[in-house]
Amino acid sequence: MNVYFDNAATTPLDPEVLDAMLPFLQNHFGNPSSIHGHGRQVRAALENARKTIAHLINAAPAEIVFTSCGTEADNYAAFGSVRPLGLQHGITSPLEHHAVLHTMQALEKQGMQLSYLRHDARGRLDLAHLDELLATHPRTFVSLMHANNEIGNLNDIAAIGQICARHKAVFHTDTVQTMGHYRHDVQQVPVDFLVGSAHKFHGPKGIGFLYRRSGQMVDALLHGGSQERNQRAGTENVYGIVGLAKALEIAYRDMADHQHHIQALKNRFMEKLRAEIDGVDFNGTSAEADQSLYTVLSVSLPSSDMNEMLLFNLDINHISVSGGSACTSGANAGSHVLTALGCDPTRGTIRFSMSKYNTAEEVDYAVEQLAKMYRKVPA
Ligand code: PLP
Repeated sequence: MNVYFDNAATTPLDPEVLDAMLPFLQNHFGNPSSIHGHGRQVRAALENARKTIAHLINAAPAEIVFTSCGTEADNYAAFGSVRPLGLQHGITSPLEHHAVLHTMQALEKQGMQLSYLRHDARGRLDLAHLDELLATHPRTFVSLMHANNEIGNLNDIAAIGQICARHKAVFHTDTVQTMGHYRHDVQQVPVDFLVGSAHKFHGPKGIGFLYRRSGQMVDALLHGGSQERNQRAGTENVYGIVGLAKALEIAYRDMADHQHHIQALKNRFMEKLRAEIDGVDFNGTSAEADQSLYTVLSVSLPSSDMNEMLLFNLDINHISVSGGSACTSGANAGSHVLTALGCDPTRGTIRFSMSKYNTAEEVDYAVEQLAKMYRKVPA
């Protein structure tokens, strides 16, 4: 069996998405900025894709800016608004993806004051602390993710957005892991920026987007041509954009079924792991259905000589996963998220991240292979 449980890293392309993209890799090659027929045909497809995405998240088409990936969209929101709006202070959490954390730290080097939000040992954010910080720093850029890519914790972005709105702070949320897996509605949640990256929901790599609330000023990251209403210069990745829109459309169309299927796989994983491995635990709020991403299960394995070879041993049994432990003191390698949670560095961590293409048989096979390494001691 050849099993792929690393869908938070990237997902396989949906064949329906490939079909939608192919004409734009073959016949429809025009430059969307060209005014002739070849260009106009491609421009129409690009603007249709923008409309589709905007409609799905209940935004206006002009609020969608295409980028090369989620990382670029995160950078664009932060760099594009902190200095141009004269924001002197930023708030983030140590649990963010490096696309946000390193961006906020780069802004700190340029003079922005940076505060880190407190969280507990399960990674739950302290929203009273957010309120306190904003009460004393009114001109703030807040960047807090919707779901954590390593441990799967879901943050309450509606509550965070309300606190930010009350203090007139700018709120960016990295929704890379939830776009296409949950319904986003920017009329319901007070966010200024959110982010999508197609390869996390069965679209192509190299294409993403930033939702930017209308009226929210933001400076371009790339300067040059007038593409994307002067917001992002450079000839557009048309087949990527078409694929992104198609992938999001399919994700919304089939979301309820996929959520049901994947949550059942996650429950099966937890049940079987608890039955087979003594001392198994789950990081963050990964085991709580209502507080975690249904696609991610972060498993904490007992201290063992096996841990160093864990990913290698799974790989030779044709199981692809991600992993990483908390850093030991002084060492820089390892997971900054598990380290921030204070996880025991001698324990092993595996992130199983699932998609619509995974099956119960694959879950059983992965647990069987792991159980061989950590055989439960008979009572
Ligand atoms: N933010 C989060 C939470 C992610 O999980 C990732 C990718 O893993 C990114 C940002 C970066 O996205 P991209 O690979 O599209 O740059």
